[in-house]
Amino acid sequence: MPTPQPQTATNAASTHIDAAIVGAGFAGLYMLHRLRGLGMSARVIEAADGVGGTWYWNRYPGARCDIESLEYEYGFEDELPREWKWTERYASQPEILRYINHCADRFDLRRDIRFETRVTSAHFNESTNRWEIETDVGERLSAQYCIMATGCLSAPRRPNFEGLDSFEGDWYHTGYWPHEGVDFTGKRVGIIGTGSSAIQSIPIIAAQAAHLTVFQRTANFSVPAHNGPIEPEYARQMTERYTEVRRRAREETTGGVVSGTPNEKSALEASEEERQQEFESRWKKGGFALGGAFADLAINNEANATAAEFVREKIRVTVKDPATAELLCPKDYPFATKRLCVDTNYFETFNRDNVTLVDVKSAPIVEITPAGLRTRDAEYAFDCLVFATGFDAMTGALLGIDIRGRAGETLGSKWAGGPRSYLGLQVAGFPNLFTITGPGSPSVLSNMLVSIEQHVDWIADCVAHLRAHNMQSIEPTPEAQDAWVDHVNEVANFTLFPQANSWYIGANIPGKPRVFMPYVGGVGAYALKCKEVVANGYEGFVLRA
Ligand code: FAD
Ligand code: NAP
Repeated sequence: MPTPQPQTATNAASTHIDAAIVGAGFAGLYMLHRLRGLGMSARVIEAADGVGGTWYWNRYPGARCDIESLEYEYGFEDELPREWKWTERYASQPEILRYINHCADRFDLRRDIRFETRVTSAHFNESTNRWEIETDVGERLSAQYCIMATGCLSAPRRPNFEGLDSFEGDWYHTGYWPHEGVDFTGKRVGIIGTGSSAIQSIPIIAAQAAHLTVFQRTANFSVPAHNGPIEPEYARQMTERYTEVRRRAREETTGGVVSGTPNEKSALEASEEERQQEFESRWKKGGFALGGAFADLAINNEANATAAEFVREKIRVTVKDPATAELLCPKDYPFATKRLCVDTNYFETFNRDNVTLVDVKSAPIVEITPAGLRTRDAEYAFDCLVFATGFDAMTGALLGIDIRGRAGETLGSKWAGGPRSYLGLQVAGFPNLFTITGPGSPSVLSNMLVSIEQHVDWIADCVAHLRAHNMQSIEPTPEAQDAWVDHVNEVANFTLFPQANSWYIGANIPGKPRVFMPYVGGVGAYALKCKEVVANGYEGFVLRA
């Protein structure tokens, strides 16, 4: 395996490699493994001091996957699923991080990873056809390929509340949680946000804290995980037919999971009794099963309303105080048009005496004070504040790097009106730059492990093709990109997704262009399209010798 060699020819200080990979989460690690397999020299650059990405950073209490562990794992190698045994149906963050570390060791990946190093810029040099990459520790790399494995949910939204610096207690963001953990015992805690991160952490913080106040702006749909040990027989069956499970997940599903078969029937064709039965049985299964209860939940408001009302009824039955229950009922957007939250005792937690729910839609947070927080209507005192306020999703990490393509044009200027990309893989004017699970691909709408592997495999096969045919570069044509962006929008507009003010559409970041970023057409259809593009001689791309 060739290791990166310092070169003197073009730039004394820069290390010449075939490929630079930014990020050492699931995507970057597998990309490194694949490129090594092609005999290429590759280097991963990672800001953290360890591997894991999402699972390195998000160490808040209760963090765990929302896709069953037996499907939320690598599928590229047959032995891995046999040698790794998950303990729970939905693995916790520490267990997933252990798994990623196991994989890094298993495939001897660390020797090509530069930790505690952040890529600050990546400029395409048109005369050499190479990417010149700079880091915050002054290292320079020159690479033919630059592969962004920077993650879709890796740029936590730093809270920009007035007065935050004056707060005399401790504050935390779920997306960069202290490694040593936080003990909330006896503390008065305020948590801002009620997305997936908050919904997972609230029950656990509530069990520790003297008092927990939850500041909710938008109520969320959440379904029970029914987490617990994995049934050994189920695990055995899944492992035994692993190759087939992964093939089906990639080729035949919408969301990249095989558990929870979607119902092909319309909710509106079913009788009231039939509907309730279907919803109920899926609620009992837990997790995303409810999302597949009927075929038209994502495309028909009337059908969707039946599922939304089912969840609201569950909340009303669970939460004893009727006013709190009603406030927890999501009413502003259709069911499952934001990623469904999967919880353990979330709604039940509001029955505790030490938990208060505060509506900050009617009375927004005005400022953080030295003692706590002030809303338009009241003041609250806290020892600790938790910001579960989310991420600058899908584009945040990419635009955090000064990326320049042909003629020095920046990605920021190209994406000023929202991200534009061909297949979510490449951007016109940025040759040999790849974005794993980039905007315009199914990515965050799916089991990300399936989408990551599909992209990594596509990119590795593409690079192998270029090398085999003595090609120097690949980039999409502007026409192919425009057509794909139109298609992404068209498909999104056919669904109810754009009706939600979600991070899918950039609505959580003030000033971010309102563009539906992921591809809603489904993992299977998308993978087929990617295959067809290749079969048609990399249709829509320009390959240069
Ligand atoms: P990441 O894991 O985000 O890794 C990207 C890495 O790039 C990070 O380590 C970051 O430090 C590094 N990086 C970024 N910019 C730079 C730079 N300029 N220089 C150097 N390094 C850089 N998806 C699911 O399918 N199922 C789930 O259950 C699920 N649960 C999730 C739970 C949480 C709390 C969050 C936040 C996300 C979850 N996701 C889930 C999405 C999750 O992000 C993906 O599943 C997956 O882990 C992404 O892997 P990745 O390698 O693409 O990106
Ligand atoms: P999120 O879904 O974006 O939620 C952020 C929350 O903060 C929202 O409730 C938002 O309210 C609130 N908020 C933001 N700014 C606010 C303000 N100024 N005042 C009041 N409230 C404010 O972020 P997240 O919970 O971190 O989840 C992001 C994604 O990561 C998820 O959708 C999922 O894909 C992934 N994730 C998965 C899991 C899992 O179960 N495995 C766990 C965590 C995260 P509004 O809705 O009103 O904007």
